[in-house]
Amino acid sequence: MLKELKYLVILQKIDNELMKINQLKGDLPQIVENLEKTISTLERDLGSNRAREKEIILVIKNLEGQIEDSKEHLKRYQDQLYLVTSNKEYDALTSEIDTVRQNIDAAEYKILELNEEMQTLKESIKSKDLTLIDKRIDIEHRREQLDKTNKKTNDVHSKLMGEREEILKMISQRYIRDYERIAKAKDGVAIVPIHQVFEEKTDKKGNIEYHPAQVSCGGCHKIVPPQKIVEIRTGKILNRCEFCGRLLYWDDKTSEIRSNHEEEVF
Ligand SMILES: [Zn+2]
Repeated sequence: MLKELKYLVILQKIDNELMKINQLKGDLPQIVENLEKTISTLERDLGSNRAREKEIILVIKNLEGQIEDSKEHLKRYQDQLYLVTSNKEYDALTSEIDTVRQNIDAAEYKILELNEEMQTLKESIKSKDLTLIDKRIDIEHRREQLDKTNKKTNDVHSKLMGEREEILKMISQRYIRDYERIAKAKDGVAIVPIHQVFEEKTDKKGNIEYHPAQVSCGGCHKIVPPQKIVEIRTGKILNRCEFCGRLLYWDDKTSEIRSNHEEEVF
Protein backbone atom coordinates (compact mmCIF):
# COMPACT_ATOMS: atom_id res chain seq x y z
CA MET A 1 0.00 0.00 0.00
CA LEU A 2 1.12 3.51 -0.79
CA LYS A 3 2.88 5.03 2.24
CA GLU A 4 0.69 8.17 2.07
CA LEU A 5 -2.47 6.11 1.90
CA LYS A 6 -1.45 4.10 4.96
CA TYR A 7 -0.83 7.29 6.95
CA LEU A 8 -4.08 8.85 5.78
CA VAL A 9 -5.92 5.76 7.02
CA ILE A 10 -4.24 6.13 10.43
CA LEU A 11 -5.07 9.86 10.44
CA GLN A 12 -8.72 9.04 9.74
CA LYS A 13 -8.81 6.50 12.57
CA ILE A 14 -7.43 9.11 14.97
CA ASP A 15 -9.97 11.64 13.73
CA ASN A 16 -12.79 9.12 14.13
CA GLU A 17 -11.81 8.66 17.78
CA LEU A 18 -11.67 12.45 18.25
CA MET A 19 -15.15 12.73 16.72
CA LYS A 20 -16.46 10.10 19.15
CA ILE A 21 -15.13 12.20 22.05
CA ASN A 22 -16.84 15.29 20.65
CA GLN A 23 -20.07 13.35 20.29
CA LEU A 24 -19.89 12.47 23.99
CA LYS A 25 -19.97 16.18 24.74
CA GLY A 26 -22.95 16.54 22.42
CA ASP A 27 -24.30 20.06 22.12
CA LEU A 28 -22.96 21.05 25.54
CA PRO A 29 -20.08 23.25 24.35
CA GLN A 30 -22.48 25.12 22.05
CA ILE A 31 -25.15 25.42 24.76
CA VAL A 32 -22.61 26.80 27.24
CA GLU A 33 -21.33 29.28 24.66
CA ASN A 34 -24.87 30.47 23.87
CA LEU A 35 -25.67 30.83 27.58
CA GLU A 36 -22.52 32.88 28.08
CA LYS A 37 -23.64 35.24 25.33
CA THR A 38 -27.18 35.53 26.74
CA ILE A 39 -25.86 36.23 30.23
CA SER A 40 -23.45 38.90 29.11
CA THR A 41 -26.18 40.60 27.03
CA LEU A 42 -28.52 40.53 30.05
CA GLU A 43 -25.82 41.95 32.33
CA ARG A 44 -25.06 44.71 29.87
CA ASP A 45 -28.77 45.59 29.44
CA LEU A 46 -29.33 45.55 33.19
CA GLY A 47 -26.34 47.85 33.61
CA SER A 48 -27.74 50.41 31.19
CA ASN A 49 -31.28 50.03 32.64
CA ARG A 50 -29.98 50.76 36.13
CA ALA A 51 -27.95 53.72 34.90
CA ARG A 52 -31.09 55.12 33.25
CA GLU A 53 -33.00 54.56 36.52
CA LYS A 54 -30.47 56.66 38.43
CA GLU A 55 -30.56 59.31 35.74
CA ILE A 56 -34.38 59.53 35.91
CA ILE A 57 -34.28 59.91 39.72
CA LEU A 58 -31.86 62.81 39.35
CA VAL A 59 -33.89 64.50 36.58
CA ILE A 60 -37.12 64.19 38.60
CA LYS A 61 -35.40 65.63 41.68
CA ASN A 62 -34.13 68.49 39.59
CA LEU A 63 -37.59 69.13 38.07
CA GLU A 64 -39.20 69.05 41.52
CA GLY A 65 -36.69 71.67 42.64
CA GLN A 66 -37.57 73.81 39.63
CA ILE A 67 -41.29 73.49 40.43
CA GLU A 68 -40.67 74.56 44.03
CA ASP A 69 -38.77 77.63 42.83
CA SER A 70 -41.42 78.44 40.24
CA LYS A 71 -44.15 78.19 42.87
CA GLU A 72 -42.32 80.67 45.05
CA HIS A 73 -41.98 83.03 42.09
CA LEU A 74 -45.64 82.60 41.36
CA LYS A 75 -46.58 83.46 44.93
CA ARG A 76 -44.37 86.54 44.83
CA TYR A 77 -45.85 87.71 41.51
CA GLN A 78 -49.38 87.14 42.78
CA ASP A 79 -48.64 89.26 45.87
CA GLN A 80 -47.20 91.97 43.64
CA LEU A 81 -50.36 91.93 41.58
CA TYR A 82 -52.17 93.75 44.42
CA LEU A 83 -49.58 96.47 44.45
CA VAL A 84 -49.49 97.40 40.76
CA THR A 85 -50.64 100.88 39.82
CA SER A 86 -50.66 100.81 36.03
CA ASN A 87 -52.21 98.61 33.37
CA LYS A 88 -48.82 98.21 31.75
CA GLU A 89 -47.33 96.88 34.96
CA TYR A 90 -50.36 94.63 35.46
CA ASP A 91 -50.04 93.15 31.95
CA ALA A 92 -46.33 92.54 32.37
CA LEU A 93 -46.91 90.78 35.65
CA THR A 94 -49.76 88.56 34.43
CA SER A 95 -47.63 87.60 31.43
CA GLU A 96 -44.83 86.60 33.83
CA ILE A 97 -47.34 84.61 35.89
CA ASP A 98 -48.55 82.77 32.77
CA THR A 99 -45.02 81.86 31.79
CA VAL A 100 -44.24 80.53 35.27
CA ARG A 101 -47.49 78.49 35.28
CA GLN A 102 -46.63 77.04 31.88
CA ASN A 103 -43.18 76.10 33.18
CA ILE A 104 -44.72 74.37 36.20
CA ASP A 105 -47.16 72.46 33.96
CA ALA A 106 -44.40 71.41 31.60
CA ALA A 107 -42.23 70.23 34.47
CA GLU A 108 -45.11 68.28 36.06
CA TYR A 109 -45.94 66.69 32.71
CA LYS A 110 -42.30 65.71 32.24
CA ILE A 111 -42.27 64.14 35.73
CA LEU A 112 -45.35 62.10 34.83
CA GLU A 113 -43.68 60.87 31.67
CA LEU A 114 -40.51 59.99 33.54
CA ASN A 115 -42.48 58.12 36.20
CA GLU A 116 -44.12 56.03 33.50
CA GLU A 117 -40.74 55.29 31.96
CA MET A 118 -39.46 54.41 35.43
CA GLN A 119 -42.33 51.96 35.94
CA THR A 120 -41.60 50.17 32.66
CA LEU A 121 -37.91 50.20 33.49
CA LYS A 122 -38.48 48.63 36.91
CA GLU A 123 -40.61 45.85 35.40
CA SER A 124 -37.99 45.20 32.76
CA ILE A 125 -35.20 45.12 35.39
CA LYS A 126 -37.22 42.73 37.54
CA SER A 127 -37.86 40.30 34.68
CA LYS A 128 -34.24 40.50 33.46
CA ASP A 129 -33.01 39.84 36.99
CA LEU A 130 -35.15 36.71 37.20
CA THR A 131 -34.02 35.50 33.76
CA LEU A 132 -30.42 36.15 34.74
CA ILE A 133 -30.80 34.02 37.89
CA ASP A 134 -32.27 31.17 35.78
CA LYS A 135 -29.55 31.39 33.17
CA ARG A 136 -26.80 31.46 35.80
CA ILE A 137 -28.16 28.31 37.44
CA ASP A 138 -28.48 26.69 34.01
CA ILE A 139 -24.94 27.51 32.92
CA GLU A 140 -23.55 26.27 36.23
CA HIS A 141 -25.14 22.84 35.71
CA ARG A 142 -24.09 22.66 32.08
CA ARG A 143 -20.52 23.64 32.94
CA GLU A 144 -20.40 20.95 35.61
CA GLN A 145 -21.58 18.36 33.07
CA LEU A 146 -19.07 19.57 30.50
CA ASP A 147 -16.25 19.54 33.06
CA LYS A 148 -17.09 15.97 34.00
CA THR A 149 -16.99 14.88 30.36
CA ASN A 150 -13.81 16.85 29.77
CA LYS A 151 -12.11 15.24 32.76
CA LYS A 152 -13.07 11.83 31.46
CA THR A 153 -11.87 12.51 27.92
CA ASN A 154 -9.04 15.03 28.29
CA ASP A 155 -6.27 12.46 28.62
CA VAL A 156 -7.45 10.45 25.65
CA HIS A 157 -8.02 13.65 23.69
CA SER A 158 -4.50 14.98 24.24
CA LYS A 159 -2.98 11.56 23.51
CA LEU A 160 -4.88 11.46 20.20
CA MET A 161 -3.90 15.03 19.37
CA GLY A 162 -0.25 14.11 19.97
CA GLU A 163 -0.56 11.10 17.68
CA ARG A 164 -2.30 13.25 15.09
CA GLU A 165 0.55 15.74 15.09
CA GLU A 166 3.10 12.95 14.61
CA ILE A 167 1.23 11.37 11.73
CA LEU A 168 0.74 14.75 10.02
CA LYS A 169 4.53 15.14 9.92
CA MET A 170 4.73 12.01 7.78
CA ILE A 171 2.23 13.12 5.15
CA SER A 172 2.98 15.67 2.47
CA GLN A 173 1.04 18.93 2.50
CA ARG A 174 -0.87 18.27 -0.67
CA TYR A 175 -2.38 15.08 0.70
CA ILE A 176 -3.19 16.74 4.00
CA ARG A 177 -4.94 19.58 2.18
CA ASP A 178 -6.92 17.09 0.14
CA TYR A 179 -7.85 15.11 3.24
CA GLU A 180 -8.91 18.19 5.20
CA ARG A 181 -10.97 19.48 2.29
CA ILE A 182 -12.92 16.24 1.88
CA ALA A 183 -13.28 15.80 5.66
CA LYS A 184 -14.72 19.30 5.97
CA ALA A 185 -17.30 18.61 3.27
CA LYS A 186 -18.13 15.05 4.40
CA ASP A 187 -18.77 15.17 8.15
CA GLY A 188 -15.14 14.59 9.05
CA VAL A 189 -14.78 11.38 7.05
CA ALA A 190 -12.31 11.74 4.17
CA ILE A 191 -11.11 8.20 3.65
CA VAL A 192 -13.22 5.08 3.85
CA PRO A 193 -12.75 1.37 3.24
CA ILE A 194 -14.59 -0.12 0.31
CA HIS A 195 -17.04 -2.91 0.95
CA GLN A 196 -16.91 -5.96 -1.20
CA VAL A 197 -19.72 -8.40 -0.72
CA PHE A 198 -18.93 -12.05 -1.32
CA GLU A 199 -22.01 -14.09 -1.83
CA GLU A 200 -22.20 -17.57 -0.45
CA LYS A 201 -23.12 -20.10 -3.08
CA THR A 202 -23.54 -23.82 -2.75
CA ASP A 203 -22.75 -25.98 -5.78
CA LYS A 204 -24.40 -29.24 -6.76
CA LYS A 205 -22.05 -31.24 -4.55
CA GLY A 206 -22.94 -29.10 -1.59
CA ASN A 207 -19.63 -27.21 -1.43
CA ILE A 208 -19.84 -23.66 -0.25
CA GLU A 209 -18.07 -21.08 -2.36
CA TYR A 210 -17.86 -17.34 -2.08
CA HIS A 211 -18.22 -15.29 -5.20
CA PRO A 212 -17.45 -11.59 -5.37
CA ALA A 213 -20.59 -9.56 -5.83
CA GLN A 214 -20.92 -5.81 -5.67
CA VAL A 215 -18.32 -3.34 -4.43
CA SER A 216 -19.46 -0.19 -2.72
CA CYS A 217 -18.05 2.93 -1.09
CA GLY A 218 -17.91 2.62 2.71
CA GLY A 219 -18.95 6.27 2.99
CA CYS A 220 -21.90 6.78 0.67
CA HIS A 221 -22.54 3.08 -0.14
CA LYS A 222 -22.79 3.76 -3.85
CA ILE A 223 -21.37 1.22 -6.27
CA VAL A 224 -17.65 1.34 -7.05
CA PRO A 225 -16.78 0.13 -10.59
CA PRO A 226 -15.51 -3.45 -10.27
CA GLN A 227 -12.46 -2.76 -12.44
CA LYS A 228 -11.17 -0.39 -9.75
CA ILE A 229 -11.10 -3.07 -7.10
CA VAL A 230 -7.60 -4.34 -7.98
CA GLU A 231 -6.14 -0.86 -7.84
CA ILE A 232 -7.86 -0.16 -4.57
CA ARG A 233 -6.79 -3.48 -3.05
CA THR A 234 -3.14 -2.92 -3.90
CA GLY A 235 -3.37 0.69 -2.83
CA LYS A 236 -0.75 1.80 -5.31
CA ILE A 237 -2.63 4.91 -6.29
CA LEU A 238 -5.22 7.03 -4.56
CA ASN A 239 -8.73 6.25 -5.70
CA ARG A 240 -11.81 8.27 -5.02
CA CYS A 241 -15.47 7.46 -4.87
CA GLU A 242 -17.08 8.92 -7.99
CA PHE A 243 -20.14 9.92 -5.99
CA CYS A 244 -18.96 11.36 -2.68
CA GLY A 245 -15.34 12.11 -3.57
CA ARG A 246 -13.95 10.31 -0.51
CA LEU A 247 -10.66 8.47 -0.79
CA LEU A 248 -11.05 4.69 -0.90
CA TYR A 249 -8.89 1.90 0.50
CA TRP A 250 -9.05 -1.79 1.16
CA ASP A 251 -9.22 -2.76 4.79
CA ASP A 252 -8.37 -6.39 5.54
CA LYS A 253 -10.72 -6.48 8.50
CA THR A 254 -13.79 -4.72 7.23
CA SER A 255 -13.74 -4.63 3.46
CA GLU A 256 -14.68 -8.21 2.88
CA ILE A 257 -18.27 -8.93 3.71
CA ARG A 258 -19.52 -12.49 3.42
CA SER A 259 -23.17 -12.72 2.87
CA ASN A 260 -24.92 -15.92 3.89
CA HIS A 261 -27.37 -15.42 1.13
CA GLU A 262 -27.75 -18.95 -0.22
CA GLU A 263 -28.19 -19.59 -3.86
CA GLU A 264 -28.14 -22.88 -5.69
CA VAL A 265 -25.78 -23.00 -8.62
CA PHE A 266 -26.73 -25.42 -11.36
ZN1 LIG B 1 -18.81 7.39 -1.76
